[in-house]
Order: sequence, then C-alpha cells, then structure tokens
Amino acid sequence: MSEHILRGHWDAAISHTRARSPASFDRWFSTVQLDNISPQTLGLRAKDTFVRDWVSEHYLPTILQYIRFASGLALQIHWSLGDIDTPIVPPPIEDPRANRVVRPSPARPTIQRPSLPAPVASLPATSHPSPPPAPVEDPPSPLASPTPVASPFPVTPPLAPPGTSLRPAPAISLKELNPKYTFENFIVGPSNNLAHAAAQASAGGGGRRYSPLFLCGGTGLGKTHLLQAIAHRVLSEQPTKRIIYVSAERFTNDFIAAIQHKRMEAFRAHYRSECDLLLVDDIQFLAGREQTQEEFFHTFNALHELDRPIVFSSDKYPQQLERMEERLVSRFSWGLVADVQAPELETRVAILRKKAQIEGILLDDQVALFLAQTISSNVRELEGTLIRLAAKASLTNRIIDLAFVQGELSSSSRSKLLSVDDILRVVSSQCNLQPSDLLSTDRHRTTTFARHVAMYLCKQRLPMSYPEIGRAFGKDHTTVMNAVRRVEKLRTEDAQVRAQLEIIEKKLTG
Ligand code: ADP
Ligand code: MG
Repeated sequence: MSEHILRGHWDAAISHTRARSPASFDRWFSTVQLDNISPQTLGLRAKDTFVRDWVSEHYLPTILQYIRFASGLALQIHWSLGDIDTPIVPPPIEDPRANRVVRPSPARPTIQRPSLPAPVASLPATSHPSPPPAPVEDPPSPLASPTPVASPFPVTPPLAPPGTSLRPAPAISLKELNPKYTFENFIVGPSNNLAHAAAQASAGGGGRRYSPLFLCGGTGLGKTHLLQAIAHRVLSEQPTKRIIYVSAERFTNDFIAAIQHKRMEAFRAHYRSECDLLLVDDIQFLAGREQTQEEFFHTFNALHELDRPIVFSSDKYPQQLERMEERLVSRFSWGLVADVQAPELETRVAILRKKAQIEGILLDDQVALFLAQTISSNVRELEGTLIRLAAKASLTNRIIDLAFVQGELSSSSRSKLLSVDDILRVVSSQCNLQPSDLLSTDRHRTTTFARHVAMYLCKQRLPMSYPEIGRAFGKDHTTVMNAVRRVEKLRTEDAQVRAQLEIIEKKLTG
C-alpha cells in the first residue's frame, strides 16, 4: 500500500477521532507530530511523556481501530519525544488581551470534518425533563436602591456579636451533593471517557494541570454527576480542602444578595480567597448577565492566580456561548475542554444495570436492552423511565418483563408503536434500497445485510417470535435466527456496523 493511501487513511482517522471532541483533540494534537507511516508502523513524536501517555491512552485506540477498518492494517506505534515542527493541528495563537494562549477556532482547513452529528446535539425542547429555570435578572448596580431578596449566601449580620467577623457558611456541605453522583456510580463509555478521565484527574493531583476544566454537552448526559463526583472524591480524600460547588444561577443570586446587603467583602472572600476548588455548574446561565459576568471574571482571575483548580459544566462549547463576554469565553478554553455525548447502546445498557442495582430493581438483560434501544438520547429520561416502570410494576404487582415494558412504553403518549413496516422503511432508506428489496429474494450483499438488520430489529423491538418474523419476510425461522445472531456478532465486533445501527435506531425512535 502506498504511503499516499496510508496518509489518506491517517487523515480520515484523525478527522473521525477529532469530531468527538474537537477542542480537546486540538489541545493534545498541537503537540504531537506524525513522523512517518508505513504498512507496519506509525511514527509519532510528542512534546513530552505526559502528552505521549495521554494521547496513547485516550486517542490512539480509536485512531488505530479506524485505520484497521479502513485498511486492514494493524500498525505498531513508534513514539519519540522532542520538539514539534509540524504539529498535527496548528498550535494555539497568542491572545494579546489576555497575555495567554487561546486556541484558534476548531474548524480548520487542514482537517475535513466528517458528516457526523454536531458534537453537542441540542435536544428537542420536548425532551427536557424539567422546565428551564426562571430567569434571574442581572443584579442592579450597587448604587441603585436595592430591594432585599432572600439569599442562600450568608449575608445576614444581625445575630453576630459586635466585633465578630461573620464567616460564610462552609464552602460545601454534603447535603448539597447528591450522594449517588459518585465516580463509582458513573458508567464510562466512548461518549464520555475523556470527560470522565479529566474529571478524575481534576479530583486527584491533576486539578491544576487541566484547570479550568470545561465539561460540556447536551442536557441529561452526566455533567452535574461528574462535577459532584469530583467534589465527593476530594471531600473523601482531602477533607480539609475547601470546595465550592455552585450553580451559576446560585452564584448570580448570591451576588445580587451580597450587593443588596452590602456584603461584597464576605462574598468575595468566600469565592476568591476561601476556596481551594471551585465547581460551577451550568455556566451558560450567566449569558446576558453582564454584571455577574464581570464579577465572575474577577473571581476566575483571583483563583487562577492562586493556582486553584476550577471546573465548569455547560450545555455548549465555550465558543458557542452567546451573550458571554469574550474574555470569559477565552478563559473557559484555557485548560481542557471535554465534551459528553449521548451514550451508545452498550453504555446505555450498562447505565440501566447500574441504576437498577442502586435502586434495587430486578432488571433482566432483555428488558435493559429494549429500554436502551427505545430511549437513546438522554440518560435522565432513560433513568426516569426505569424508575417509573419499577413503581408501576410494584404497585400493580407485576414483574418487569419484556411484555410489561413494551405494553407500558407503547401506551405512553411519548413513544409510538413500531411496526415491521417502520423498520423496513428506515433500514432500506439507510441502505439506499426500497422496502420491497428487503422482502425480495435478491441476494446481493447490501440487500442481504439490510434484510438481516431488519430481522434483527424486529426481534429486538417488536414482540415477535422467530417464526412470526420469518413469515413477515417469507423465510423460515432458522434463517431469522442466524440473521439475528450474525448482526449481534457484527454489532460487538465491527464499529462501522455499530455506528450504522445507532443511526437506524435513532431514526426509529426519533
Ligand atoms: P446534566 O448535568 O448533563 O444535564 P446529569 O448529571 O444531571 O446531567 O445526569 C442526569 C442523570 O443521568 C443523573 O441521574 C445521572 O446520574 C445520570 N447519568 C448520566 N450519565 C451517566 C453515566 N455515564 N453513568 C451513570 N449515570 C449517568
Ligand atoms: Mg446538570
């Protein structure tokens, strides 16, 4: 195979891997260089061992797997260390305002983005499990005459004896954390492994190294869980650390109250000098709140100066945040930006099993698979459905078997009952065929594969036996059994098949 073709595979593998999490990808790969590529080896050079180890662990498996699919080659990696002359992605540019480095925008001419879904899929409004928080006004100017508001922040002086300096409440109390949001209860899969690894590093010794860590992704995908897992871990391993876990909304409310009660000094001490680790949830909430942004900017700078780690969560990438001051957006990208995506089927099944175990729900494998196939976008919804089904089963004295779950989900207004026709339609269009091709005797490879996938989905998604599926396709039941087994095997072994099935399943649910 010529080097030219190999380079093509390499470029495609890079685009594919980068699409998952462009900002973090760029960060790492601006200090890595491709030295050479041959049918046996891939020569890479890293700036230092830290970069080499991170890239090896977090990116190379995907890149090598992609190349293996595309070319059939299992490349050996030869690493070297040294100066990088031609980085895989361009290095950061200087930001003269901040006197710091920032990344150029992730879209780069040298790397073709594959036509995959956008990294952070914004979910349709109907899938939001809870209504968006009521808008909070940006605080009035400190000079304006304030109307007192109830504050969660300790701003009330009346009971203090004269001369006593009022201490803010402890930075974090365990009550504010959900005890279930720990690393032990978090299921790691390809959709969230970078965010998870970075969060774990932040909770260990690596907090400063990645600071600020910016976790972003759609709603219900585990950002708050990870943020709180950091707090749990640090609290258990370094109990004297002063951790602040705060939503951006609460920060805003604290700020307003501090202004109104003339307690800015205590507010600033609390967030700036008395904080060893700041965890801010849903930073997008600051959008359009100019004065809070200004205050937060100074909070950020103070902590950064002191080398205190900061972790954010956000429903968007920094660059996508609207009505957010540029200097804040730039700071959000100083450290590591790691996204969480909607989990793949296997991860969804594992999450369901974990939740069932935590809640003491008996869940058999078939039911877990069915639920994970039916609800694909959002973990919160997946979890909510499981809890709802368990409650209903217990109230009506039923066991949670496939028939019960299928009945419940089809009667719920949100999910529509699938039919064989739906499956034929979606699978055939995905494979550029007609639905009738799947029922024909055509034995062309693509048609056979599509037919097998349709049979597999009928088995997974519809309450149909093998003989019933056989009758629908004009085949006998052993053919259907073999087809289902074949697709199951391919699903575990072949990433491309897995990706195709994911797309088809999304269309079926969507
Ligand atoms: P976000 O903050 O991204 O909107 P949350 O962190 O509130 O989402 O997660 C929603 C629910 O889904 C929580 O109950 C959380 O425990 C669960 N969840 C999300 N991802 C995972 C995961 N990978 N493993 C286990 N539970 C998860
Ligand atoms: Mg959240």
